[in-house]
Amino acid sequence: MKKLLLILSLAAPLAAQPVQEVQDAIVADALAHNSAYEFLGHLCDDHGGRLTGSPANQAALLDTLHQLQAMGVDARLQTYKMPGWVRLEDKAVMVAPIQRKLRAVTLSYVQPHEPFEADVVYLGDGSEKALEGLDAAGKIGLLAPNALQRRGGYNEYAEGLGLKALIRTCRVNGGQLLCRTGSFQGEPISVPVYCVTQEEGKWMQRSLARGLPVRLRLHTRSYCKEIDTANIVATFPGKTADTVIVGGHFDSWDLGQGAIDNGLGIAQLFGIAKLLQQHARENLRTVELVWFNGEEQGLWGSRMHVPTILDRPITAMVNLDMVGFPKSLNALGFADLVPVLQAFDATLGERKLEKGIDNVNWFGSDHTPYQLAGIRAITFGAYIDPDAVRYYHDFGDTFDKIDPVMVAESTATIAALTYYLANVEGLNATRLDEAGAIALFRDAKLVDRLKHSGIWPFADEDEPASDGK
Ligand SMILES: [Zn+2]
Repeated sequence: MKKLLLILSLAAPLAAQPVQEVQDAIVADALAHNSAYEFLGHLCDDHGGRLTGSPANQAALLDTLHQLQAMGVDARLQTYKMPGWVRLEDKAVMVAPIQRKLRAVTLSYVQPHEPFEADVVYLGDGSEKALEGLDAAGKIGLLAPNALQRRGGYNEYAEGLGLKALIRTCRVNGGQLLCRTGSFQGEPISVPVYCVTQEEGKWMQRSLARGLPVRLRLHTRSYCKEIDTANIVATFPGKTADTVIVGGHFDSWDLGQGAIDNGLGIAQLFGIAKLLQQHARENLRTVELVWFNGEEQGLWGSRMHVPTILDRPITAMVNLDMVGFPKSLNALGFADLVPVLQAFDATLGERKLEKGIDNVNWFGSDHTPYQLAGIRAITFGAYIDPDAVRYYHDFGDTFDKIDPVMVAESTATIAALTYYLANVEGLNATRLDEAGAIALFRDAKLVDRLKHSGIWPFADEDEPASDGK
């Protein structure tokens, strides 16, 4: 009898390791070996900022791809064309009331122009009320730090006022210039838009308020061009076609190194790839890791990735954009994900998320194109030292701001979530239909903002009359 039992147990297939056990091993490994941090340091210092389409971006992308492949990960490029933009010199010089070179940069998709001089007119927050009775024609409009953050529509706005150029005052102080896109659709901007520091913007505003004429000389050679770029896609095939997508944007602005925004996400994805390779090459569901390009200029990489997955059942998409110390998870309006994330949180034991689970949709990163396709998406609420995160689109977004403990802790939690979503029983892939996707954004009062950005894919008659700002 004893002998028979022994033979039977040898003949039976090895029982799979319980999910919790593997998840705990992944967390322990992530905390013990912080390879994601080391990788990020190399990426930042050896390549610099990763503006999409720039040689630095391309070199860093291939470097990342080759390191993944060297680990044995099935990683490849998903190539595509998108409207690109090249920054050359941007020059803004105050010629009155005094002569002074300003710290200034153009927004992406600004086109080159010959040097010109014009008077500055103050536009306040740029709202209709602030513009009442103002004659801005032929002048350079100066916006206050609290002006509406546009992601498009600069042409209509500046042309409507007859402006020669538009100057944004940076909303963060300390000599900073937070880069941003001038158009989510990559539309060339016919009226040049510059960003100046808060200090110099307020200086000009004070001078104008005292009745002093402020005059600027502007010149940029930055230009738009169509570019060839790529996402990196790494696949860990599962026992089923159901797929968990974990993505984060690879590109950054060019002034700094893009260490926080979004070197963090690049490193975390790299860490997850290594941990899955080590502990969980094959899962119940397929895991697809995606490093997106073109996020900063208009979510191009995620918009290009979504059409490639629509024929597959997608369990959820997890977006990693500037995830520091994880504090909460966000189901982004998908109420059916809340209990799933709560159950995951309970598996974390003493690493349980301090602020639990949120369910609030927001717009501004790569999860949005998935949501628009009805795919469930998840983001993290996280903490980054305010003294580090304030530099996120500027010169100061460099590797010295990265806390190695933050990388290790976040990678551990994100990798645990990835493994959990890929293996937990009873989690079906579902997708909202068009009406459901529209409701998701209508409920969060985001329809107007998406329309303004030009990425709202649905017909106009779907616009709810009651939508707020
Ligand atoms: Zn980002």
